[in-house]
Amino acid sequence: MQKEGISTRVVHGGHAKNAENSLSTPIYQTSTFIFDSAEQGGRRFAGQESGYIYTRLGNPTTSQLEERIALLEGGESCTAFSSGMGAISATMLSLLSCGDRLVADKTLYGCTFSLFTETLPRFGVKVELVDMSDLDAFQAAMTPDTTAVYFETIANPNMKVIDISAVSECAHRIAPNCSVVIDNTFASPLLVRPLSLGADVVVHSATKYLNGHGDVIAGFSVSDKERMERIRMVGLKDITGAVLGPQEAFLIIRGLKTLKIRMDAICANAMKVARFLESCPYVDAVYYPGLESSPCHEVAAKEMRQFGGMISFEMHSFDEAKSTLNHVRLCSLAVSLGDAETLIQHPASMTHSTYSREEIEAAGFTDRLIRLSVGLEDPEDIIADLTQAFEAACGK
Ligand SMILES: *Cc1c(COP(=O)(O)O)cnc(C)c1O
Repeated sequence: MQKEGISTRVVHGGHAKNAENSLSTPIYQTSTFIFDSAEQGGRRFAGQESGYIYTRLGNPTTSQLEERIALLEGGESCTAFSSGMGAISATMLSLLSCGDRLVADKTLYGCTFSLFTETLPRFGVKVELVDMSDLDAFQAAMTPDTTAVYFETIANPNMKVIDISAVSECAHRIAPNCSVVIDNTFASPLLVRPLSLGADVVVHSATKYLNGHGDVIAGFSVSDKERMERIRMVGLKDITGAVLGPQEAFLIIRGLKTLKIRMDAICANAMKVARFLESCPYVDAVYYPGLESSPCHEVAAKEMRQFGGMISFEMHSFDEAKSTLNHVRLCSLAVSLGDAETLIQHPASMTHSTYSREEIEAAGFTDRLIRLSVGLEDPEDIIADLTQAFEAACGK
């Protein structure tokens, strides 16, 4: 399958023939698996024989999904989790120990930010936050004893795009054994495949574009076999136990089949909405890597196939931002992203409420910022809805 195109992989990747030869992947709704003999059970636990034991250690529906995601990201191995935070915490807690050093970008998803700034330091991990779009600043923060480097491909919420190949090259030059971990949730493997640009591990909230239908919470971690063995057998099995259910795995397999056409349509819609926002007098600034005015446009054009469906924009005041959210009709006032429905939210008081006011400023965004996850509606209708909300909020 590795040589097949991406559209083929999202439809067929990892699908295994089953006893009844069903077209769609069966849901193995079971917690445990029966052994033929006591000897066989012993061999499976000892790792001398392959085969399923217990769903926390593996399940056929989930395995087929994991293989599909590994193929999409171009990685050797993948583990599924019951949430994106499950994937992120299991991955980082497997890679890091007391006394280790983590260098992370300063703009992070809110819960990742609190994991890194509050929880990991409680276990003796030294965490340094830096603006990784500034390569000199990143190089200055790197030391030979750094164990892991972490950033997001399109950083939430200000849509900053970091040069994956340059950061990975610099990290490995200074600390050859460090793991470069990338949260690829906002871009999806259809826009960029970080492992092919030098990263070591990719994590995902599959709740977003990968599933794409707003009905599942899930996550993935993808890497080489050796790291993944640790992430699965320690991070998933022993530390977090954040196992994805077979029903959810089935829904993601189904959602993935339309990932390519969803992303193409969402990216095209987002470009139109971003151009509208850029020309709109009610809007002070627009952050979208597809706009030539974006400081990240050059890096994004070099590393990404398309520019994604996430746009942030700043209104002239906090009150106008809040009032805009209260006047949308078609756009849904909700967190999360990557769904068929256009979603709108206020990072400072919602997804990034784990940041203090000072931390918000340091991370490079304000309380005037609105985040939009562009959906699959007609773009003219999204633009018309925003227009009427701006007029109601800001006065004609
Ligand atoms: C949503 C999100 C997460 C967390 O994922 P959950 O599935 O909600 O646990 C992590 N990173 C990014 C970039 C996200 O958008």
